[in-house]
Amino acid sequence: MSLIVMKFGGTSVANGDRIKSVADRIIRQVEAGDKVIAVVSAMGKMTDDLVAIANQVTDNPPSREMDVLLSAGEQISMSILAMAIDAKGHVAKSFTGAQAGIITDGGYTKARIEQIDASRLKEALREGNIVIVAGFQGVTKEGDITTLGRGGSDTTAVAIAAAVGADVCEIYTDVDGVYTTDPRIDPKARKIDEISYEEMLELADSGAGVLQSRSVEFARNFGVVIHCRSAFSDEPGTLVKEVSDMESAVISGIAYDDSEAKVTLRGVPDQPGIAAMTFSKVSEIGANVDMIVQNKSENGLTDLSFTTPSKDLPKVTEILDAMVKDLGARSYVVDESIAKISLVGAGMKSHPGVAAKMFSVLAENQINISLISTSPIRISVIIDGEQKELAVNCLHTAFDLDSDSLFEETQLSSEELAAKAQKGR
Ligand code: ADP
Ligand code: ASP
Ligand code: MG
Repeated sequence: MSLIVMKFGGTSVANGDRIKSVADRIIRQVEAGDKVIAVVSAMGKMTDDLVAIANQVTDNPPSREMDVLLSAGEQISMSILAMAIDAKGHVAKSFTGAQAGIITDGGYTKARIEQIDASRLKEALREGNIVIVAGFQGVTKEGDITTLGRGGSDTTAVAIAAAVGADVCEIYTDVDGVYTTDPRIDPKARKIDEISYEEMLELADSGAGVLQSRSVEFARNFGVVIHCRSAFSDEPGTLVKEVSDMESAVISGIAYDDSEAKVTLRGVPDQPGIAAMTFSKVSEIGANVDMIVQNKSENGLTDLSFTTPSKDLPKVTEILDAMVKDLGARSYVVDESIAKISLVGAGMKSHPGVAAKMFSVLAENQINISLISTSPIRISVIIDGEQKELAVNCLHTAFDLDSDSLFEETQLSSEELAAKAQKGR
């Protein structure tokens, strides 16, 4: 008998019929003798729809209230799934994040899990229930509802798997595993059978939305094996686990991220303390900064460029307006039409020349690079957003990642495919 956490994403629970299939899938596991904790996302695009409703009344919703609102989506799917299981003659009990004992910090809309008291979940399992937990949410020590950032149900699942000592954490989604790149951007993408925590973390951090990066961090820290697989078939998916460096491919995948903007502060005095001041102001407003580049100085003045999520731009530009005045900087420019392309692979550490090859392939395809950053197992470049697909496709081919067969979509409606395409843009 195994204890399994099974997480179902939005597409997998998008309507009553899909929820009934999820119920069947869980029941099959239980009838085979296993114990199951299911973690569910909100149905379909419900989280986006709730965000849109908030935006009908304000451009700047208080983050505490946003979390009360968004957590409602998962509360709906968890109860409907419990009803579907009940209707099929099995016992199920659903729990909100708070009822499941998921305690977070107070960082509304991107809260971090601090602790899980899984005693109620364990008791419900002992009583013979199929346990269902609302993904994406927790509660502060003070009792306020929080959410874990978009895609956060993955993190709920892995954190619960760690807390209850599950044998595996299965993440059921609308593709059949982790691919060498998003198969919707490059249909020649190849499914990966096994990937290390380290590489998956870099891919997720670089924009591969198939797993929330915090879930991978959690899995690595607590040694939880993730099995990412299709909700529509029984085919095995991708295992995310400890893999020795010896077995790693030179390049395991390519990620893209077009959700960031590049900001350049022009003509800033080239003196100690300026970068410190700029980035402490940016961090004070809670905006993330990814890549940073300072150009060569001329006549005591320099340019400072950095990338930040486009959604944080209104706050960041407010600060920059003030800084241009205070620092005597000449001006700043914002470029929203950028994309970050990242090549990830643990084998890079022992294979020199990957960066040179990446830059040559981009140059051959007339793709200009405006910023570069690296980690021991990743090279990222900022390019013109319009060339995102071209860049992914040509790098994918050049680094021998292409599959012999093309990716085939399973069971998604045309409306769902359109929503996915929108998300990828
Ligand atoms: P869920 O709602 O199940 O959490 P997500 O939309 O969050 O699903 O994640 C699945 C999507 O991630 C896929 O439909 C795919 O388009 C996208 N994706 C991005 N990069 C990758 C990748 N490297 N491998 C697989 N899917 C990827
Ligand atoms: N429903 C949330 C979202 O859409 C959380 C999740 O699906 O993981 O981001
Ligand atoms: Mg997701």
